[in-house]
Amino acid sequence: MAKDTILLDHGAGGRASHQLVQRVFARRLGNELLDPLDDAAVLAAPAGRLSVSTDTFVVDPLFFPGGDIGSLAVHGTVNDVAMRGARPLYLTAGFVLEEGLDVAVLERVVASMAAAAKACGVRVVAGDTKVVGRGQADKVFINTTGIGVIPEGREVGAHLAAPGDKVLVSGTMGDHGVTIMALRGGLNLEANLQSDSAGLQGMISELLEACPNIHTLRDPTRGGLATTLNEIAATAGVSMELDEEAIPVGEGVRGVCELLGLDPLYLANEGKLIVVAPPQEAEPALEVMRAHALGAQAAIIGAVGESPAGRVWLQTAVGGRRILDMLAGEALPRIC
Ligand code: MG
Repeated sequence: MAKDTILLDHGAGGRASHQLVQRVFARRLGNELLDPLDDAAVLAAPAGRLSVSTDTFVVDPLFFPGGDIGSLAVHGTVNDVAMRGARPLYLTAGFVLEEGLDVAVLERVVASMAAAAKACGVRVVAGDTKVVGRGQADKVFINTTGIGVIPEGREVGAHLAAPGDKVLVSGTMGDHGVTIMALRGGLNLEANLQSDSAGLQGMISELLEACPNIHTLRDPTRGGLATTLNEIAATAGVSMELDEEAIPVGEGVRGVCELLGLDPLYLANEGKLIVVAPPQEAEPALEVMRAHALGAQAAIIGAVGESPAGRVWLQTAVGGRRILDMLAGEALPRIC
Protein backbone atom coordinates (compact mmCIF):
# COMPACT_ATOMS: atom_id res chain seq x y z
CA MET A 1 0.00 0.00 0.00
CA ALA A 2 1.29 3.46 -0.86
CA LYS A 3 2.32 5.64 2.08
CA ASP A 4 -0.25 8.23 3.05
CA THR A 5 1.36 11.40 1.77
CA ILE A 6 0.38 14.90 0.72
CA LEU A 7 -0.31 15.19 -3.00
CA LEU A 8 -0.65 18.28 -5.16
CA ASP A 9 -4.38 17.41 -5.33
CA HIS A 10 -4.68 18.16 -1.61
CA GLY A 11 -4.10 21.85 -2.35
CA ALA A 12 -6.25 22.08 -5.47
CA GLY A 13 -9.48 23.01 -3.71
CA GLY A 14 -11.38 19.94 -4.93
CA ARG A 15 -12.43 16.67 -3.31
CA ALA A 16 -8.95 15.82 -2.00
CA SER A 17 -8.64 19.26 -0.36
CA HIS A 18 -12.00 18.83 1.33
CA GLN A 19 -11.06 15.41 2.63
CA LEU A 20 -7.77 16.71 4.01
CA VAL A 21 -9.49 19.66 5.72
CA GLN A 22 -12.04 17.35 7.32
CA ARG A 23 -9.65 14.63 8.31
CA VAL A 24 -6.71 16.71 9.56
CA PHE A 25 -7.77 20.27 10.29
CA ALA A 26 -11.48 20.48 11.13
CA ARG A 27 -11.30 17.42 13.37
CA ARG A 28 -8.65 18.93 15.63
CA LEU A 29 -9.04 22.68 15.32
CA GLY A 30 -12.82 22.79 14.90
CA ASN A 31 -15.04 25.11 16.95
CA GLU A 32 -18.34 26.86 16.29
CA LEU A 33 -16.58 29.79 14.60
CA LEU A 34 -14.48 27.64 12.26
CA ASP A 35 -16.93 24.80 11.60
CA PRO A 36 -19.13 26.52 8.97
CA LEU A 37 -15.97 26.51 6.73
CA ASP A 38 -17.42 29.48 4.87
CA ASP A 39 -15.25 32.00 3.01
CA ALA A 40 -14.71 33.98 6.19
CA ALA A 41 -15.41 33.60 9.89
CA VAL A 42 -17.90 35.97 11.49
CA LEU A 43 -16.84 37.26 14.92
CA ALA A 44 -18.59 39.51 17.38
CA ALA A 45 -16.62 42.75 17.71
CA PRO A 46 -15.36 43.04 21.29
CA ALA A 47 -15.35 46.42 23.05
CA GLY A 48 -11.98 48.17 23.15
CA ARG A 49 -9.02 48.18 20.79
CA LEU A 50 -7.61 45.16 18.98
CA SER A 51 -4.04 43.90 18.94
CA VAL A 52 -3.15 42.07 15.72
CA SER A 53 0.05 40.25 14.82
CA THR A 54 1.15 37.85 12.11
CA ASP A 55 4.14 35.54 11.88
CA THR A 56 5.30 32.76 9.57
CA PHE A 57 6.97 29.68 10.99
CA VAL A 58 9.58 27.77 9.03
CA VAL A 59 11.52 26.14 11.87
CA ASP A 60 13.81 23.26 10.96
CA PRO A 61 13.55 20.59 12.34
CA LEU A 62 9.76 20.40 12.73
CA PHE A 63 10.00 18.65 16.11
CA PHE A 64 12.41 19.59 18.88
CA PRO A 65 12.68 19.11 22.66
CA GLY A 66 10.08 21.39 24.22
CA GLY A 67 7.83 21.76 21.17
CA ASP A 68 7.30 21.63 17.43
CA ILE A 69 6.32 23.92 14.58
CA GLY A 70 2.62 23.60 15.53
CA SER A 71 2.89 24.69 19.16
CA LEU A 72 5.48 27.32 18.19
CA ALA A 73 3.13 28.80 15.57
CA VAL A 74 0.53 29.29 18.32
CA HIS A 75 2.88 30.52 21.08
CA GLY A 76 4.81 32.92 18.83
CA THR A 77 1.72 34.78 17.63
CA VAL A 78 -0.22 34.60 20.92
CA ASN A 79 2.81 36.12 22.66
CA ASP A 80 3.18 38.96 20.17
CA VAL A 81 -0.50 39.83 20.54
CA ALA A 82 -0.20 39.72 24.34
CA MET A 83 2.86 42.01 24.38
CA ARG A 84 0.59 45.00 23.75
CA GLY A 85 -1.40 44.15 26.86
CA ALA A 86 -4.12 42.32 24.93
CA ARG A 87 -5.98 39.15 25.78
CA PRO A 88 -5.46 36.91 22.73
CA LEU A 89 -8.77 35.55 21.38
CA TYR A 90 -8.46 34.30 17.81
CA LEU A 91 -5.93 32.82 15.43
CA THR A 92 -5.91 32.14 11.73
CA ALA A 93 -3.65 29.45 10.31
CA GLY A 94 -2.24 29.17 6.79
CA PHE A 95 -0.31 26.05 5.81
CA VAL A 96 2.14 25.58 2.97
CA LEU A 97 2.73 21.85 2.51
CA GLU A 98 5.38 20.17 0.41
CA GLU A 99 4.21 17.41 -1.89
CA GLY A 100 5.21 14.06 -0.43
CA LEU A 101 4.87 15.10 3.22
CA ASP A 102 3.76 12.21 5.40
CA VAL A 103 0.14 12.93 6.46
CA ALA A 104 0.92 11.48 9.90
CA VAL A 105 3.52 14.23 10.40
CA LEU A 106 0.95 16.88 9.51
CA GLU A 107 -1.57 15.31 11.89
CA ARG A 108 0.96 15.42 14.70
CA VAL A 109 1.71 19.10 14.00
CA VAL A 110 -1.98 20.05 13.86
CA ALA A 111 -2.77 18.11 17.05
CA SER A 112 0.02 19.98 18.82
CA MET A 113 -1.33 23.26 17.47
CA ALA A 114 -4.80 22.43 18.77
CA ALA A 115 -3.47 21.59 22.24
CA ALA A 116 -1.42 24.81 22.38
CA ALA A 117 -4.38 26.92 21.23
CA LYS A 118 -6.60 25.36 23.88
CA ALA A 119 -4.01 25.98 26.60
CA CYS A 120 -3.67 29.62 25.49
CA GLY A 121 -7.45 30.13 25.39
CA VAL A 122 -7.56 31.04 21.69
CA ARG A 123 -9.65 29.61 18.87
CA VAL A 124 -8.54 29.06 15.30
CA VAL A 125 -11.26 30.78 13.28
CA ALA A 126 -9.94 30.63 9.72
CA GLY A 127 -7.43 28.59 7.80
CA ASP A 128 -5.92 27.87 4.42
CA THR A 129 -3.85 25.08 2.87
CA LYS A 130 -1.62 25.19 -0.20
CA VAL A 131 0.50 22.38 -1.57
CA VAL A 132 3.67 23.05 -3.58
CA GLY A 133 5.80 20.57 -5.50
CA ARG A 134 8.66 18.61 -4.02
CA GLY A 135 11.62 20.84 -3.21
CA GLN A 136 9.56 24.04 -3.53
CA ALA A 137 9.03 24.20 0.26
CA ASP A 138 10.41 22.12 3.11
CA LYS A 139 7.72 19.84 4.59
CA VAL A 140 5.47 22.38 6.41
CA PHE A 141 5.44 26.15 6.77
CA ILE A 142 2.72 27.76 8.90
CA ASN A 143 1.51 31.34 9.02
CA THR A 144 -0.58 32.40 12.00
CA THR A 145 -2.33 35.70 12.55
CA GLY A 146 -3.53 36.52 16.04
CA ILE A 147 -6.23 38.90 17.25
CA GLY A 148 -6.59 40.04 20.83
CA VAL A 149 -8.54 42.66 22.71
CA ILE A 150 -6.85 45.37 24.78
CA PRO A 151 -8.79 46.27 27.94
CA GLU A 152 -9.96 49.85 28.35
CA GLY A 153 -7.25 52.23 29.53
CA ARG A 154 -4.34 49.85 29.02
CA GLU A 155 -1.32 51.27 27.22
CA VAL A 156 1.78 49.12 26.76
CA GLY A 157 4.45 49.70 24.14
CA ALA A 158 8.16 50.14 23.46
CA HIS A 159 7.72 53.91 23.05
CA LEU A 160 6.76 54.23 26.73
CA ALA A 161 10.09 53.03 28.22
CA ALA A 162 11.35 55.98 30.30
CA PRO A 163 14.53 56.98 32.16
CA GLY A 164 14.48 55.57 35.70
CA ASP A 165 12.52 52.44 34.66
CA LYS A 166 13.80 48.99 35.58
CA VAL A 167 14.39 46.24 33.03
CA LEU A 168 13.33 42.69 33.91
CA VAL A 169 13.32 39.31 32.19
CA SER A 170 11.01 36.42 33.06
CA GLY A 171 13.71 33.72 32.96
CA THR A 172 16.78 32.22 31.32
CA MET A 173 17.97 33.48 27.95
CA GLY A 174 18.78 31.54 24.78
CA ASP A 175 17.03 28.22 25.42
CA HIS A 176 15.10 28.00 22.15
CA GLY A 177 17.95 29.21 19.94
CA VAL A 178 20.56 26.95 21.41
CA THR A 179 18.26 23.91 21.29
CA ILE A 180 17.59 24.37 17.56
CA MET A 181 21.25 25.11 16.84
CA ALA A 182 22.40 21.99 18.68
CA LEU A 183 19.87 19.85 16.79
CA ARG A 184 20.81 21.32 13.44
CA GLY A 185 24.50 20.96 14.15
CA GLY A 186 23.91 17.30 14.99
CA LEU A 187 25.49 17.90 18.37
CA ASN A 188 24.94 14.96 20.65
CA LEU A 189 25.08 16.88 23.86
CA GLU A 190 24.39 15.45 27.23
CA ALA A 191 23.26 18.93 28.25
CA ASN A 192 19.55 18.82 28.89
CA LEU A 193 18.55 21.41 26.31
CA GLN A 194 14.93 22.26 25.71
CA SER A 195 13.09 25.03 23.89
CA ASP A 196 11.24 27.42 26.22
CA SER A 197 8.30 27.67 23.75
CA ALA A 198 5.25 28.67 25.81
CA GLY A 199 2.24 30.96 25.78
CA LEU A 200 2.83 33.99 27.99
CA GLN A 201 -0.73 35.36 27.99
CA GLY A 202 -1.48 34.04 31.49
CA MET A 203 1.58 35.53 33.14
CA ILE A 204 1.07 38.83 31.32
CA SER A 205 -2.51 39.07 32.47
CA GLU A 206 -1.45 38.54 36.11
CA LEU A 207 1.41 40.99 35.65
CA LEU A 208 -0.75 43.81 34.29
CA GLU A 209 -3.40 43.17 36.90
CA ALA A 210 -0.84 43.66 39.70
CA CYS A 211 1.30 46.27 37.93
CA PRO A 212 -0.96 48.38 35.70
CA ASN A 213 1.74 50.98 35.05
CA ILE A 214 4.17 48.67 33.27
CA HIS A 215 5.49 50.58 30.27
CA THR A 216 6.80 47.93 27.90
CA LEU A 217 6.45 44.19 27.28
CA ARG A 218 8.43 42.47 24.52
CA ASP A 219 9.35 38.89 23.77
CA PRO A 220 13.03 38.49 22.90
CA THR A 221 12.63 36.13 19.94
CA ARG A 222 14.95 36.35 16.90
CA GLY A 223 18.05 38.40 17.70
CA GLY A 224 17.59 37.65 21.39
CA LEU A 225 17.63 39.93 24.41
CA ALA A 226 20.36 42.21 23.04
CA THR A 227 18.53 43.00 19.79
CA THR A 228 15.12 43.47 21.41
CA LEU A 229 16.51 45.86 24.05
CA ASN A 230 18.22 47.86 21.30
CA GLU A 231 14.87 48.11 19.52
CA ILE A 232 13.13 49.33 22.67
CA ALA A 233 15.91 51.84 23.40
CA ALA A 234 15.77 53.19 19.83
CA THR A 235 11.96 53.42 19.77
CA ALA A 236 11.76 55.17 23.15
CA GLY A 237 14.86 57.34 22.58
CA VAL A 238 16.48 56.15 25.81
CA SER A 239 19.63 54.30 26.87
CA MET A 240 19.87 51.14 28.93
CA GLU A 241 22.41 49.83 31.40
CA LEU A 242 22.44 46.07 32.03
CA ASP A 243 24.22 43.97 34.61
CA GLU A 244 25.54 40.84 32.88
CA GLU A 245 25.71 38.86 36.13
CA ALA A 246 22.01 39.47 36.77
CA ILE A 247 20.91 38.02 33.41
CA PRO A 248 19.77 34.40 33.93
CA VAL A 249 21.29 31.82 31.59
CA GLY A 250 20.79 28.07 32.09
CA GLU A 251 23.84 25.90 32.72
CA GLY A 252 23.31 23.76 29.61
CA VAL A 253 22.87 26.83 27.41
CA ARG A 254 25.97 28.45 28.88
CA GLY A 255 27.99 25.29 28.24
CA VAL A 256 26.95 24.99 24.59
CA CYS A 257 27.51 28.73 24.05
CA GLU A 258 31.06 28.44 25.38
CA LEU A 259 31.67 25.39 23.21
CA LEU A 260 30.37 27.01 20.02
CA GLY A 261 31.40 30.60 20.71
CA LEU A 262 27.83 31.87 20.91
CA ASP A 263 26.43 34.67 23.06
CA PRO A 264 23.16 33.69 24.79
CA LEU A 265 22.08 37.34 24.74
CA TYR A 266 21.69 37.07 20.95
CA LEU A 267 19.85 33.74 20.89
CA ALA A 268 16.10 33.36 20.35
CA ASN A 269 13.61 32.78 23.14
CA GLU A 270 10.02 31.65 22.54
CA GLY A 271 8.55 31.76 26.04
CA LYS A 272 10.27 34.67 27.71
CA LEU A 273 9.32 38.21 28.41
CA ILE A 274 11.13 41.53 28.80
CA VAL A 275 9.39 43.94 31.15
CA VAL A 276 10.19 47.64 31.43
CA ALA A 277 8.50 48.93 34.57
CA PRO A 278 8.55 52.16 36.54
CA PRO A 279 10.77 51.75 39.65
CA GLN A 280 7.87 51.32 42.10
CA GLU A 281 6.50 48.40 40.06
CA ALA A 282 9.79 46.57 39.49
CA GLU A 283 9.74 44.48 42.69
CA PRO A 284 6.01 43.70 42.46
CA ALA A 285 6.47 42.62 38.81
CA LEU A 286 9.38 40.40 39.85
CA GLU A 287 7.22 38.78 42.53
CA VAL A 288 4.33 38.09 40.16
CA MET A 289 6.64 36.51 37.59
CA ARG A 290 8.52 34.41 40.13
CA ALA A 291 5.26 33.07 41.50
CA HIS A 292 4.23 31.95 37.99
CA ALA A 293 5.28 28.56 36.57
CA LEU A 294 6.93 30.26 33.58
CA GLY A 295 8.78 32.92 35.58
CA ALA A 296 10.58 31.12 38.42
CA GLN A 297 13.93 32.54 37.32
CA ALA A 298 12.76 36.07 36.63
CA ALA A 299 15.26 38.81 37.42
CA ILE A 300 15.81 42.56 37.40
CA ILE A 301 18.67 42.93 34.93
CA GLY A 302 19.15 46.65 34.50
CA ALA A 303 17.72 50.13 34.22
CA VAL A 304 16.71 52.69 31.62
CA GLY A 305 18.81 55.86 31.31
CA GLU A 306 18.45 59.09 29.41
CA SER A 307 21.25 59.17 26.85
CA PRO A 308 22.73 58.44 24.43
CA ALA A 309 19.39 57.54 22.86
CA GLY A 310 19.26 54.01 21.52
CA ARG A 311 22.39 52.77 23.26
CA VAL A 312 22.48 49.63 25.42
CA TRP A 313 25.40 49.17 27.81
CA LEU A 314 26.46 45.96 29.47
CA GLN A 315 28.35 45.92 32.77
CA THR A 316 30.31 42.73 32.27
CA ALA A 317 30.87 40.03 34.87
CA VAL A 318 34.61 40.83 34.88
CA GLY A 319 34.01 44.49 35.73
CA GLY A 320 34.18 46.08 32.27
CA ARG A 321 31.56 48.02 30.40
CA ARG A 322 30.76 47.54 26.74
CA ILE A 323 28.17 48.45 24.17
CA LEU A 324 25.63 45.69 23.61
CA ASP A 325 24.73 46.10 19.95
CA MET A 326 22.00 44.56 17.79
CA LEU A 327 22.59 41.20 16.19
CA ALA A 328 24.58 41.70 13.00
CA GLY A 329 23.34 39.34 10.30
CA GLU A 330 21.59 36.04 10.87
CA ALA A 331 23.38 33.49 13.02
CA LEU A 332 21.18 30.64 11.79
CA PRO A 333 18.13 30.87 9.54
CA ARG A 334 14.87 28.98 10.21
CA ILE A 335 15.08 29.13 13.98
CA CYS A 336 11.32 29.84 14.25
MG1 MG B 1 7.75 39.83 19.45
